[in-house]
Amino acid sequence: IKEQMGSRVQMYDPKLSEKLARRLLIHAELAKAVQHWPFTLYYQPIISLKNRQAIGMECLIRWFHPTLGAIPPSEFIPLAEETGLIAPIGMWVLEEACLQNKRWQDAGLSPIVMSVNLSSRQFYDPSFLEALNAILQRTGLAPQWLELEITEGVMMDIRTTLPILRELRARGIQLAIDDFGTGYSSLKYLKELPVDKLKIDRSFIQHIEENVVHAAIVQALLTMSAQLELHVVAEGVERDEELDALMRMGCEYAQGFLFSRPVAAEEASELL
Ligand code: C2E
Ligand code: CA
Ligand code: CA
Ligand code: CA
Repeated sequence: IKEQMGSRVQMYDPKLSEKLARRLLIHAELAKAVQHWPFTLYYQPIISLKNRQAIGMECLIRWFHPTLGAIPPSEFIPLAEETGLIAPIGMWVLEEACLQNKRWQDAGLSPIVMSVNLSSRQFYDPSFLEALNAILQRTGLAPQWLELEITEGVMMDIRTTLPILRELRARGIQLAIDDFGTGYSSLKYLKELPVDKLKIDRSFIQHIEENVVHAAIVQALLTMSAQLELHVVAEGVERDEELDALMRMGCEYAQGFLFSRPVAAEEASELL
C-alpha cells in the first residue's frame, strides 16, 4: 500500500507536528499580540528605471516578538485571516501607511504613492469603503497617493470585485494587481479590470537573464500592459543581471533587494 500511495501514507511525521506546534504557538501569540500591538510597518521603495527615483513605497507589516524574534507576515497573516484578526490589523496598516505618507509629504519630500497590501477578507468586508474613507479623512492624505495591492486570485472573481474596484477607482485610489502570474492568470479579464498597475511576481524575475521562458513571459506581459496602458512593476529584483535584462525589455518600474530591503520609516525617508 505504501508503495502505491507513495508519500501520502504518513504514520508519524515529526516535521509535520513541528509545523503544527509552531502554528498553534503563533496562533496563541497573535491573540495576545492584539492587546499590546507589537506591529510596525517597514517600507520598500518602488523605483522608476528611467531615473532611479523612488515613485512609491510598499508598506510591509513586521512583528518583532520578544522571545520568538521576527515573525514573518507569511506566517501570521494567513492565521490573522482565518481568525478575523486581519480586520483590525488591516485597518491599522492602512491608517499608519496613510499617516506616514502624509508626514513625508508635509516634510516636503518628493511625493510618492504608498502601496498597501489588502487581504481578500478586508476587500470583501461591506464596511471597508466607509472605513477607508474615514482613514483618508482623518489622515488628510489625498486618495491618489494611496494604492491598494490586491492579488490576482481575488481580482479575478470579477462579478463580485468589479463594483468594489470601480468605486475605489472613482474615489481616486490607485489599484495594483499583486503577484501577477502566480494565480489564476486570466488574461481575458485583464482589460476589464479598472487597475493601474501590474506587479509581476518575483518567480518570473529570478534569473530572467538566462531563463528564456521567463524572459518571454515577462516580455509578453510588458507588451500587453503597454497596450492596456497599465504600469508594470518587476518584483524581487536582486541582481544586476536581472535589472539589465528588465531595462533592455523596457520595464518601467522595479522593486527588490537590489535597490533596498524593506526598512523602517526613518531609514525609508532617506530614500525619498
Ligand atoms: P508581497 O506583497 O508579495 O510582498 C513582497 C515580499 O517580498 C515582502 O516579503 C518583501 O520583503 C519581499 N521582497 C522584496 N524584495 C525582495 C527581493 O529582492 N528578494 C526576495 N527574496 N524577497 C523580496 P514580506 O515582507 O515577508 O511579506 C510577505 C507577504 O506577506 C507579502 O507578499 C504580503 O502578501 C504579505 N503582507 C505583508 N505585509 C502585509 C500587510 O500589511 N497586509 C497584508 N494583508 N499582507 C501583508
Ligand atoms: Ca504586495
Ligand atoms: Ca507581490
Ligand atoms: Ca507574494
